[in-house]
Amino acid sequence: MSLLTVTNLGKSFGGVKAVDGISFDLHAGELLALIGPNGAGKSTTFNMVNGQLTADVGSIKFDGKELVGLKPREIWRLGVGRTFQIAETFSSLTVVENVQMALLSADRKLFSMWRPASAHKREEALALLDQVGMAAQADRPCSVLAYGDVKRVELAIAMANKPKLLLMDEPTAGMAPKERNELMALTKKLVTERNMAVLFTEHSMDVVFAYADRMIVLARGRLIAGGAPKDIRDHPKVQEVYFGT
Ligand code: ADP
Ligand code: MG
Repeated sequence: MSLLTVTNLGKSFGGVKAVDGISFDLHAGELLALIGPNGAGKSTTFNMVNGQLTADVGSIKFDGKELVGLKPREIWRLGVGRTFQIAETFSSLTVVENVQMALLSADRKLFSMWRPASAHKREEALALLDQVGMAAQADRPCSVLAYGDVKRVELAIAMANKPKLLLMDEPTAGMAPKERNELMALTKKLVTERNMAVLFTEHSMDVVFAYADRMIVLARGRLIAGGAPKDIRDHPKVQEVYFGT
């Protein structure tokens, strides 16, 4: 059974059909890449799944529940996490403090109950940091980290809420090839260990071909192809729209 089932989803802005009746599904344990040229409707699709935008038509079923009409916070509570194109942490706090805050938030506790250097949830936070290879840097302030390491911390923060589905908007933007591969290998490891699913947008075809189990291709709001990367590569419509040949 699929974890996420998107059916006939649509959203217009004024006269522009940003997303025009797309359908796809996603299973636990799978990394699905959403690709397409600028303006194809990738971000709009993403933002409908996380609740920042409300669909005009169609359905988004997650774990048996309809997401259309729910608020972002409600969707997050159901187990849909996300990371951002520009990684964000509280730079004045240490690495472990950022994860402690995320764990507290996942428990629906107020941030104001928590103070830096508190031991609250520290062990649990360290365990999460260990999973992303950041335990050794736990007590460093986030402000001094390399960008690739901030992305790892961001993953640990996302894991604090135990998401079943993680949405990643251009996770490797601004990264060198080595960092890219490390981040995606780590993502793949988390997906396998936690039987989670990932929906991500990506510009680098190298990353998509190396790490996506399946991909869907959008162009002008429509889904023009979907399947395993090796089967999509030579699809004539994809060549035309995406690779410009
Ligand atoms: P992508 O992420 O694939 O580059 P978007 O989903 O951002 O594409 O945009 C799809 C289309 O919808 C584009 O034509 C874009 O200009 C339009 N669009 C997106 N968001 C808005 C908005 N908030 N208001 C008006 N038009 C928008
Ligand atoms: Mg976009």
